[in-house]
Amino acid sequence: MSQTGSRRGDIASPSQTKEIIAKHGFSLKKSLGQNFLIDLNILDKIVSAAGLDRTRGALEIGPGIGALTEQLAKAAGRVAAVEIDQRLLPILADTLAPYDNVRIVHGDVLKLDLKELVREAFPDVDKISVVANLPYYVTTPIVMKLLEEKLPLDNIVVMIQKEVAERMAAKPGGKEYGSLSIAVQYYGEPELVTIVPHTVFIPQPNVDSAVIRIKIRETPAVEVEDERFFFEVVHASFAQRRKTISNNLLSRFFAKGERDKLDKVLQESGIEPSRRGETLSIEEYARLSGILKRHLNS
Ligand code: SAM
Repeated sequence: MSQTGSRRGDIASPSQTKEIIAKHGFSLKKSLGQNFLIDLNILDKIVSAAGLDRTRGALEIGPGIGALTEQLAKAAGRVAAVEIDQRLLPILADTLAPYDNVRIVHGDVLKLDLKELVREAFPDVDKISVVANLPYYVTTPIVMKLLEEKLPLDNIVVMIQKEVAERMAAKPGGKEYGSLSIAVQYYGEPELVTIVPHTVFIPQPNVDSAVIRIKIRETPAVEVEDERFFFEVVHASFAQRRKTISNNLLSRFFAKGERDKLDKVLQESGIEPSRRGETLSIEEYARLSGILKRHLNS
């Protein structure tokens, strides 16, 4: 069936989704996070949040039966979509047949060389967005891989579990703020786009969802000498959330009798030992990790 010239979003309507699934005898796999989107308004919101146009590329993770992919094909110059489930490949070939700017890649996004994929799939576009309704069981590893590999991305717009989106965007001081907030905010500027009800998926997930946009920074939010050590300090500071920063750092970096050394580091960093990890800003973590590293090496 050709969809050329048809109304936008044919794949995403509930009846069309059910028809496509039935036609191909497809059974949804919960273990792969297969909750397909069936709401055109949400798809529109996701696509417009990425600010796509014909000069831009879109990298999708998990196209499913192609509901979002179709909208991306209409909005962007080129689309590449990585799908792990081989059973979806013939379905995607069918649903996306009218679009000549889409490339489907079979594979696990966590194992693929994304730098190479981006180079090959987007030879002639300057700006690339990742746009996806992510499988919830691997949201954090996928987002962290996208950020840590320093791909040439403009932004990442993804539907994820609401609670994870809130943690990514959290500011210091609240219980949502933690090492995930700092990691995401080090590389980008996250912003909640919209909260999404269960009813827009087949089947409906049993958690709330949200769309988050992460604008990628040209340079990280803070300058650190040693990125790996910076994140080690952040992780250590949240190891036991109820403990003070002083007790968390002591157990990770010092021997029992060395509290005076740690006190010096905290004093030099301008951080009260009784504070908890969740109250420190990313700038304070940067300063603290630089001073701590110097003391440990001296
Ligand atoms: N984009 C479709 C939509 O919005 O209706 C489907 C989204 S569904 C939440 C997640 C998709 O990711 C599924 O198609 C699933 O098979 C795929 N997926 C799961 N794990 C993956 C992985 N590690 N790499 C690539 N795709 C994966």
